[in-house]
Amino acid sequence: MERVIIIGSGPAGLTAAVYAARANLRPLVLAGGLYGGQLMLTTEVENYPGFPDGIMGPDLMIKFREQAERFGARIENTDVTSVDFSKSPFVVRTYDDEFTAKTVIVATGASARWLDIPGEEKLRGRGVSTCATCDGAFFRDKHIVVAGGGDSAMEEALFLTRFGHKVTVIHRRESLRASKIMADRALGHPKIDFLWNTVIEGVLGDPVMAGLRLKNVNDGSTYDFDADALFIAIGHTPNTGIFDGQLHLDKSGYIVSPDGTSTNIEGVFVAGDVNDIRYKQAITAAGSGCKAAMDAEKYLEAMEFAVAESHA
Ligand code: NAP
Repeated sequence: MERVIIIGSGPAGLTAAVYAARANLRPLVLAGGLYGGQLMLTTEVENYPGFPDGIMGPDLMIKFREQAERFGARIENTDVTSVDFSKSPFVVRTYDDEFTAKTVIVATGASARWLDIPGEEKLRGRGVSTCATCDGAFFRDKHIVVAGGGDSAMEEALFLTRFGHKVTVIHRRESLRASKIMADRALGHPKIDFLWNTVIEGVLGDPVMAGLRLKNVNDGSTYDFDADALFIAIGHTPNTGIFDGQLHLDKSGYIVSPDGTSTNIEGVFVAGDVNDIRYKQAITAAGSGCKAAMDAEKYLEAMEFAVAESHA
């Protein structure tokens, strides 16, 4: 039986692995077939402390992984297909194996939603991004587009005014979903303009983004629109499908935690974006991975002490 299984291998999961390994718990990390989390999809990371010259997202995640392995974490690049948290020890299944564990740390992250339109995937990191904090600074004095009408889109648009000479928000309806305060800030900003009732049908350019193919949903007309960057801010989907019915999820599917690490199941902890609708940064995920591992260690200590006492 494992003492700690960590599901997920982004900054939260691998920081939990470093801490659990250094506490001699020999954690098993079920990293996912595509290990490393969202940073594997980014280019340069300039806001992770300790790297004054920046570091490529995949290189950063390889360092996280090497650090966890150095202290004895065992990492398997496999997807978890189901869990059973109804009794202890907990059961965690992959395609080929079934594991049992005294504690589980869930760090499966949240995936940014994409528009799924032609050109989007090819131009990711070449003008198309889902993270203004990460990539905004690459577009100084450029024309930047933000897709979406919620709080995230307003926040991204306002942040991007620091860099772009102009920011255009493209929204599929004619009223915003964003809260009034965020909407008013964006609507009143001199550098931000809005294109309403408009959907983005394609991203143009090769090898970097040069524009967008747009469609006016009212009259059906389509046209090309010059722009240098597209930030997609249409929400995130937490990766919690396999926990549905076992862990408490909020209405958007995020795992509910009263204190940021515990869940409704004693011994099952949560870390990172899967519980974070607000910050979603590598550094905040790493910090929460540290907390979850420390809390799992304390829980195990109490559990194992109680078992030893009962045998004494
Ligand atoms: P959201 O509220 O779900 O808004 C998503 C937006 O993207 C909506 O305007 C939606 O359009 C649009 N959209 C969705 N799918 C689309 C598609 N395929 N094509 C084009 N547009 C699409 O998501 P969010 O903005 O990420 O916010 C999530 C939660 O976090 C909210 O509760 C929000 O209040 C909170 N949040 C708060 C702050 C803050 O207070 N500072 C900042 C960020 C987020 P429709 O409107 O037509 O559905």
